[in-house]
Amino acid sequence: MLPALRLGDGFQRQAEYTRRPGWSRPVESLWAIVGKWQFVNRLPYSTVARCVSSLSRTGLYQGVDLRVLEAFDLDALAHFSGIHPSALCAGACVASPSSPALGLTSANLRWCPACMDQGFHAALFQFLPITRCPTHNSGLIAACPHCLSIIPYRLDPAAVATPLACPTCTSPLMADATVLAPEHHVAGPCKNLADWQRLLARYASWYCSVPRLRRSVPAGDTTAGADIPSRCPLPKDRLAFIGTLQEATHQAPFLSSNAKLRQAVTWAIDPLDEPPWDGSWKPPFGMQDWPNFQAPAFVDLCRRFSRITHLHRERDTPNDRCATAWWRRTWQGATQRPCSVQTTFDDPPFGVAEWFAFSKQLTSKSSRWGAQQALALRFEQDLQLTWLAWSELLEQMPRSSSMGLHPRLIPPRGCWLDEPTFSPTSTALGSWGDMHFQNYCGSAVSP
Ligand SMILES: [Zn+2]
Ligand SMILES: [Zn+2]
Repeated sequence: MLPALRLGDGFQRQAEYTRRPGWSRPVESLWAIVGKWQFVNRLPYSTVARCVSSLSRTGLYQGVDLRVLEAFDLDALAHFSGIHPSALCAGACVASPSSPALGLTSANLRWCPACMDQGFHAALFQFLPITRCPTHNSGLIAACPHCLSIIPYRLDPAAVATPLACPTCTSPLMADATVLAPEHHVAGPCKNLADWQRLLARYASWYCSVPRLRRSVPAGDTTAGADIPSRCPLPKDRLAFIGTLQEATHQAPFLSSNAKLRQAVTWAIDPLDEPPWDGSWKPPFGMQDWPNFQAPAFVDLCRRFSRITHLHRERDTPNDRCATAWWRRTWQGATQRPCSVQTTFDDPPFGVAEWFAFSKQLTSKSSRWGAQQALALRFEQDLQLTWLAWSELLEQMPRSSSMGLHPRLIPPRGCWLDEPTFSPTSTALGSWGDMHFQNYCGSAVSP
């Protein structure tokens, strides 16, 4: 008689479940990837959670947050789904529950009906500032069209029992599941989706990564109205302007990188035209109302800002006037109020305070005075750089798009902060120094 066949652990791991990596497409969300895997396997929640989650048994009681990469055992998920770990990373919204960008995401499923009918869901749709599908230009929806229930963006017993369907009424979310087969796939993810994702990532990184602010920045309660966030997590309405921009333009606007613009910066104003330096200049905001903004270094920056504003007001083509108005709103910190070319404000330009707060301490060996001069020069260059950036942006925007524009599109802090770099193992919005999951890089899984 033959001895009983014993299966080792390795054999069990190989034998297991059906996987269909061909059903997935790049930048697909973990909701779709895990949902499709469960769709063909129909396993109980305890098994699914044990296979792919990194949470402890008690953690699993709450369900697994599909936004957070850290909640998954990436190697195991790659093994079971047959999808490369880097593609899985891009399917999560953020790396860990402490990522500031988690505040930008919805805890309930948001989707584009047209994409869903093709069996596709992107992690980008979970970001609240994104209001439309970049591929189809249709509004995202966040409730089941049949029973109007919201669908938690979580892997839990209800979700596992109804993969790719509404857990409340069990209606399938896509009309015809045969579209999952690769021969039905339409063209891959649209470039436009990636462009909007990059745009959102740029601003999220600028507004999430708060560098050490300079201590000497004018501060205090008087900055309450200023656009200087210093708290985490990121409030979701901070980047709401991106949704408004989506209403105005289908294509994500192209913004040159600061580094490139800085190389190309030419003085829009001929320095020879400068009026003589006005030593008697007084800030329009008084000591009584704005005591914290009277530091000599800040007042000096305001004087330079005022002079260059004056020169820009002389520029008279329609595009120049428009660029000047938006440029002024950026630097005045006028995020809510209108600002024509001639508007005057009697409060400090908060954008200048922001620029100052984010500026790097220049190490000048010569002297403190030399360092201040260098900083002032850089300030004037950045005023030019942002004016050029506005001018460039307005040239590519549709005529009717002014409603979608916002001073935060070219924030003064952007002059000092680098473009975010995307590693191959970034989550949907990049890792922002949260590099621990780079360890997975290279642990390729054969399909
Ligand atoms: Zn779509
Ligand atoms: Zn429903």
